[in-house]
Amino acid sequence: AQQSELLNSFMESGIYRLDHSDVVFIDPVRLLNDSYSRFRLSPSAYYSRHFSSSSSPTPNKKRKRKRKPKHASLNERELCAEKRHQQLRPLLLNAHRKLLQASQLLNILPRIIVETGEPLHCRQLELERLAEHNFVELGSNWRAPFCEISLSNNPQGLGSGLPEARKLVPLFDNMISVESDGDVEAEFQNSTYILPQRSFFLMSDLRHVRKLIPENSTEGFNFIVIDPPWENGSARQKAMYPTLPNRHFMYLPVKELAHSDGALVALWMTNRQKLQDFVEKDLLPAWGMSHVTPFYWLKVKPDGSLIGDLDLFHHRPYECLLLGYVNVDLNSECMKTIDSLKESRVIISVPGAYSRKPPLEKLLSEYIPGQRPSRCIELFGRELAAGWTSWGNEPLHFQDSRYFLEK
Ligand code: SAM
Repeated sequence: AQQSELLNSFMESGIYRLDHSDVVFIDPVRLLNDSYSRFRLSPSAYYSRHFSSSSSPTPNKKRKRKRKPKHASLNERELCAEKRHQQLRPLLLNAHRKLLQASQLLNILPRIIVETGEPLHCRQLELERLAEHNFVELGSNWRAPFCEISLSNNPQGLGSGLPEARKLVPLFDNMISVESDGDVEAEFQNSTYILPQRSFFLMSDLRHVRKLIPENSTEGFNFIVIDPPWENGSARQKAMYPTLPNRHFMYLPVKELAHSDGALVALWMTNRQKLQDFVEKDLLPAWGMSHVTPFYWLKVKPDGSLIGDLDLFHHRPYECLLLGYVNVDLNSECMKTIDSLKESRVIISVPGAYSRKPPLEKLLSEYIPGQRPSRCIELFGRELAAGWTSWGNEPLHFQDSRYFLEK
């Protein structure tokens, strides 16, 4: 009975707290849907990697991957990484065990990933992906200043029969705001994009990032999510988006973006020890980030099993999310929750396609300083959300109407 109650609340909120613990299972699609009124995300498009033929390799196609290496063959950095992994193992295994005990949740997972009547959507999406706009390329082209996006001011959307009020605005290097009370449809070169209400975005290169800095720090952000395009050895990831040398991220104006009431900063990291060392020694001090606590995102398949062997050296089924504060007043309410924050360290979900990270605002809201609604910004984002500012060289990527269904 208790599991059913939790399940009902999960279907509403997208968050399932496992066994009274601080381990949570989330459905990013449900969380993202909070931003929309006329539209909702297509689960099969979001989760397409779990049933499309070309995504995750089938067992016989798998490249030989390194299991836990023999300690003698590890260099100093790898030994540190292995030690860290061994320390984390019990926490992650315990979190996973809790998920496996939530039998009712596991039973409904396959139906959350793909709804009945929707199975072809992902294949169609895969084909259409070939025609998707590549904003990264377009933005660096000499024609970028001439690209305009057309926003509909009609809350009923395109094709409603009402006369269209449309506004043309420059797409690149221009802060675009959606101030309507409902979803807005935008058109750019024969594609439609769904923009959530009260969302803002700036599509630009890192060179223009300072355009985001508010004139007054009382207009700064209380929650700053950063998922940098870290340099990475993986060719697959290289093909997906361009990366930058890690030292470039030291110039992100994190302090200047933070609200005068303080900001919670969430930084996504890979598991590479070299990166972890750089972040700890150089990046966090450069950003002035303090009270840093790691969270872990554990990735599972729709049947609840881990997406890969926990001990595969270069392909861990988890990622690290560092939380910390900038400009924060040590007496503020959110600082009192920091101790509890140390306990609540594992977020579990079925990962979306194209390495999409799960949305964090609802999960972390109690740790965000300042007034409500919080002012939130995502740096290097590929999607928009209501009340958020998104910046990167492709923040419209997942707003393509092909990722949405009408409600
Ligand atoms: N958090 C995102 C998500 O869940 O979908 C993924 C972000 S991905 C790790 C990094 C993003 O940074 C990519 O969209 C990439 O194109 C973008 N990027 C790479 N170089 C950039 C640059 N010089 N300026 C702005 N954005 C850049």
